Amino acid sequence: MNDLYFFCMDCKSFVDAGYRWAYSSLADAGMKPNAFVTAESILAVEKYWSTSDPGLISLLAVAKTYLLQHFGHRLRYGDFDFLFEPQEEWADWLDESKNPEELPRYFLERERCLTWDDLVKRVAQLPIEPWWWSDEKLRLHAKARFDVLRLARFFTSAGPVTTDKRQFL
Ligand SMILES: [Zn+2]
Repeated sequence: MNDLYFFCMDCKSFVDAGYRWAYSSLADAGMKPNAFVTAESILAVEKYWSTSDPGLISLLAVAKTYLLQHFGHRLRYGDFDFLFEPQEEWADWLDESKNPEELPRYFLERERCLTWDDLVKRVAQLPIEPWWWSDEKLRLHAKARFDVLRLARFFTSAGPVTTDKRQFL
């Protein structure tokens, strides 16, 4: 059994669900990993939200905020393998957990890296490199997706509203 997460298939983001605690308390409520779930059904599992463990309390607070933010979205519950279905899409996911996986979108959206060079500098400061960093094929894929996501963000969020975005294409 690996770590368990809630995944939003609409936003391509995920959050730590609390590993063994999630597995046991959600299984008691009839929820098994790899299922589609609703935010409503998870929020209704009293046992899952009732813990006195301080580490779990803060983890679950983040998970609860996540479920409320993604209420009504297509959610799944399961392990890290979802990131690789399909295989190449791992670089498109954002981890919204308290201690997030450093995937390309993390650098773009959380560390506010505006260019790949910014990201390279940021990785150099990390105590441990991301798992996809030392494999050239994975790193090149990450860079390609980072650039696509960076441009997509630019076109949807930045610049004056009157700017005709076709001029950039
Ligand atoms: Zn969502």
